[in-house]
Amino acid sequence: MRLEMQRMEKLGVLGDLAAAIAHEVRHPMTVASGFLQLIQEEKNPGDKRHYITIAFDELQRAEGIITDYLAFAKPEIQELESVEVEEKTRQVLNLMSSYALLHNVELTNEIHAGMRVCADAGKLDHVLMNVIKNGIEAMPDGGRLHIAATRMQGYVEFLIEDTGVGMTMDEVARLGNPFYTTKDKGTGLGLMVAYRYVEVMRGKILVQSEKGKGTRFSIRIPISDK
Ligand code: ADP
Ligand code: MG
Repeated sequence: MRLEMQRMEKLGVLGDLAAAIAHEVRHPMTVASGFLQLIQEEKNPGDKRHYITIAFDELQRAEGIITDYLAFAKPEIQELESVEVEEKTRQVLNLMSSYALLHNVELTNEIHAGMRVCADAGKLDHVLMNVIKNGIEAMPDGGRLHIAATRMQGYVEFLIEDTGVGMTMDEVARLGNPFYTTKDKGTGLGLMVAYRYVEVMRGKILVQSEKGKGTRFSIRIPISDK
């Protein structure tokens, strides 16, 4: 009975979200087709390149929204495995290094060796990459992003600190809400997925931030003894 209730509640949430997604995707599609139509009708042919860029950006935005939604709606059943922290963190840092370079952000790290977490490797990647990406995007004039991983009671704590724009307490409270974004091309779904994944892995996310100074994400994932 209880299980059934939970299932129904979940379906309700996913259904509401699906409706909201459909709505959100329609907007960039309308913009993209509008600009493609201008090209087709050959109005202001000089601006063609500009129109193509906009249409392309909007299509990518629509794709981003759908990708994030699918990640969220995926079934929860997954195999938790023992994941080596140092190796995983280095992989993620490697993947993010070009994005950091492009934004004039220096990536530094302090990863203790020999730790393992009980996690879904793919979901852990997704969480770390989303939080790092947000940190980089929070530093429009460049800066430093530091990643540390240390052992704490029952968990491995990943600390991700940026020297970016920071947030007020109200803004921090809105993190993880679907479609909350302050970016022109944001989806506002990245942290929603990250929060859910951490929950599924029985971990925790804590955020400390100061407007104009920077932000620190603490992501705690249960330790694996294996
Ligand atoms: P998106 O990145 O598409 O905007 P997210 O869910 O990843 O969506 O993030 C939601 C919002 O949270 C961002 O638009 C930004 O305003 C805020 N945010 C997230 N991380 C940070 C950070 N490190 N520093 C400042 N603001 C942040
Ligand atoms: Mg994001």
